[in-house]
Amino acid sequence: MVDLKGQYLKISNEINEAIQEVIDSTTFINGPRVKQFAQNLESYVGVKHVIPCANGTDALQVAFMALNLKPGDEVIVPCFTYVATAEVIALLGLVPVLVDVDSKTFQIDTTAFESAITAKTKAVVPVHLFGQCADMETILSICKQHNIYVVEDTAQAIGANYTLNGEVRGAGTMGHFGTTSFFPSKNLGCYGDGGAIFTNDDDLAEKARMICNHGQKKKYYHSVVGVNSRLDTVQAAILDVKLKYLDEYSAARQQVANRYDEAFANHPALEIPYRDLKSTHVFHQYTLKIHDLNRDALKQHLADNGIPSMVYYPVPLNEQEAYKGVGNFPVTDDLCTRVLSLPMSTELTIDQQQKVIETLLNFA
Ligand SMILES: *Cc1c(COP(=O)(O)O)cnc(C)c1O
Repeated sequence: MVDLKGQYLKISNEINEAIQEVIDSTTFINGPRVKQFAQNLESYVGVKHVIPCANGTDALQVAFMALNLKPGDEVIVPCFTYVATAEVIALLGLVPVLVDVDSKTFQIDTTAFESAITAKTKAVVPVHLFGQCADMETILSICKQHNIYVVEDTAQAIGANYTLNGEVRGAGTMGHFGTTSFFPSKNLGCYGDGGAIFTNDDDLAEKARMICNHGQKKKYYHSVVGVNSRLDTVQAAILDVKLKYLDEYSAARQQVANRYDEAFANHPALEIPYRDLKSTHVFHQYTLKIHDLNRDALKQHLADNGIPSMVYYPVPLNEQEAYKGVGNFPVTDDLCTRVLSLPMSTELTIDQQQKVIETLLNFA
């Protein structure tokens, strides 16, 4: 689905040099490159504080710890997402409250969100799924009215921009916290695990920083219960190199998406991804909705011709043994039977993509 080797080869000199520098300096933990990368990412996404951490799941966990929620507090999450979103909520003794998503955008359904609010609701996690932002304007306005924290899960949408009340804002910078992942296949991926927390709030930033560092501000003085969650220097050095190319990478993904759109736009069985006018789309995934066709047979046909495709997500949170939700989630249930994500990478050539398109259209 991605071509990490091809992407590396184009910048291998710079990457190798950056890694070698860290090895020569032996500042493997908290080296200068970690701070440098965090600052560069702050400017890039347009946020006051970037707090690097060990992975995207930790980023969510630390954000919730910093918000000081109490066991039993409810946190609303869309059920069409990766499990990490709900996992940390449950782990902290909070109650993940699942809500359905919008069938067009795949993002949290704002009407379902508002209906799910109770006296115990303390936070919501809009997941900017597949690379496009959730309806932040509506979500933020509901949250303001009900005094609810917003933690944006930006693991799939780093670099996307959203027009909020006429102002262009980076994905992950609009809520109390934004969290992201640098897992290798994410749009900005490192060569191992990595993550970061975004916030514009100085107090929340200080808390999150302390929590990532065993709850200490001063060494050996632990004022809150923390965790050990760091981005190591080698990964930061790699990310700092790759950040310079993130706009190029997003543009390459958008070109691939545009070509798919063109090929499938008028096909009755293939619904191309919805483009929200308020958000740019950085296409972490290019995800079709399949109508009146056997999706799994189509997937097999692609596989038989050497073309990978994926179903994100085959089993929604509401069907997972650990998270079974109460209520009905008809849109999510339907999406799980229809979605199909096609090869999407910064290195996909026009010829390779043409083969994907032709093979798919041969079946459809
Ligand atoms: C990848 C991902 C995460 C978790 O990131 P890790 O770095 O793998 O822990 C969380 N949420 C979403 C939506 C993701 O896609």
